[in-house]
Amino acid sequence: MHRISTDIAVVGGGVIGLAIALRLRADGREVVVIEPNEPGSGASYGNAGTVANYAVIPVGTPSVLRNFLSLLLDPGSPLSVRTSALPTLFPWLARFAYESLPHRYRQNAGRIAELVSDASTAWMEFAAEIGASNFLSAKGCLYLYETAKAFRAAGADIELRRNHGVSQQLLSAGDVAELEPRLTEFEGGLFFPGAINLSDPGAVMGLLTAAVKRTGAEFVQASVTSIVRERSGLRIAASHCDVRARRVVIAAGAHSRRLAASLGDPVQLDTERGYHIEYDMTDLPIERPVCPTARGFYFCPMQGRLRVAGLVELGGLTAPANLQLTEALARNARRMFPELGVPSRSWLGFRPSMPNSIPVIRPSKSGRDVILAFGHGHIGLTLAPRTARMVSAIVAR
Ligand SMILES: Cc1cc2nc3c(=O)[nH]c(=O)nc-3n(C[C@H](O)[C@H](O)[C@H](O)COP(=O)(O)OP(=O)(O)OC[C@H]3O[C@@H](n4cnc5c(N)ncnc54)[C@H](O)[C@@H]3O)c2cc1C
Repeated sequence: MHRISTDIAVVGGGVIGLAIALRLRADGREVVVIEPNEPGSGASYGNAGTVANYAVIPVGTPSVLRNFLSLLLDPGSPLSVRTSALPTLFPWLARFAYESLPHRYRQNAGRIAELVSDASTAWMEFAAEIGASNFLSAKGCLYLYETAKAFRAAGADIELRRNHGVSQQLLSAGDVAELEPRLTEFEGGLFFPGAINLSDPGAVMGLLTAAVKRTGAEFVQASVTSIVRERSGLRIAASHCDVRARRVVIAAGAHSRRLAASLGDPVQLDTERGYHIEYDMTDLPIERPVCPTARGFYFCPMQGRLRVAGLVELGGLTAPANLQLTEALARNARRMFPELGVPSRSWLGFRPSMPNSIPVIRPSKSGRDVILAFGHGHIGLTLAPRTARMVSAIVAR
């Protein structure tokens, strides 16, 4: 049995755990990162790559609540539920319904807006620090509406974003085509000029991991099975090793619930499963991330490939990928770009999701020696630098 002692153990080496480790090392703390897989290979690897400083609208909105049943029954909808998971999901869904009520939706949007407001600047600084500036592109991001009715229905969200100072431009069909000449079949769109995107999230995770290693942080390849408070500190039991730490940061993404609960802090975390398919190509049909909003995915221009990423499948952490969903992604992708053939690869990832879309970044209710940093849902990449700053401040207090 391998035994290690440290000041702070970070459980989970996704973008959140890695960003936290980097920041804590910059603060001069001794850090061990515990991660069973290749660091950055979870949700942080396969996302849409957008630093979405505009994404203040929570997943649960009055409109989603009103249309929830029809969204579930429509086979072309971006939302699906695995029926076998329904009994376990019920408490999360009940809370999600409550969080979608008008007053909660507005309140949640306000809290998210505060978190994402400086995301683009924070990411540019972060990318420079880890040597990843070449992977950032600042061409904004585009939402598309297929019908005039859908565009009108987006009015409440547009208004809410405006109230929170999000920079957004309403586009006519002609404006859309001017920005992205291949996109001629839309009634209109929204352009977020301040958004930036990563042209290869996997490569950026590699650079982030290397940067953390250069600071001298130790990496332990193991899965944490339990965290126990003892008189001398915390004992973190992991496969084939035992880590003693003064403090622990739980940043295990969608897998964090059990660890937080075992320390007496039950949190309503679940997962929104998401998918991507990729097409290897050099001549990309778009310049920036583009989201046909009714379809619930993004077309993402990436280095040497087009990634189509998104969808929400409620269904837990263990079920295999649903091939019908990746096939639906491919069908929808071809509707916009008929030249796309068979995808080169597909991927399933687990968003760590709270019913109100607000991440949990705070000391555990069981004691300040445990810090929770998970639940970032659709905006974990966006919020990694900000989360790291918040955790650093909690540790310093
Ligand atoms: C399809 C899709 C598109 C997305 N698009 C975007 C986007 O454009 N912009 C954006 O900001 N966000 C996006 N997201 C969300 C974003 O990817 C996530 O919020 C973010 O990656 C979460 O990071 P994390 O570090 O918390 O989780 P992860 O990256 O999943 O990392 C958690 C790590 O914890 C480890 N772990 C698990 N259990 C244990 C254990 N017991 N012991 C030790 N380690 C453990 C795992 O191995 C994993 O490496 C998207 C997500 C998906 C699925």
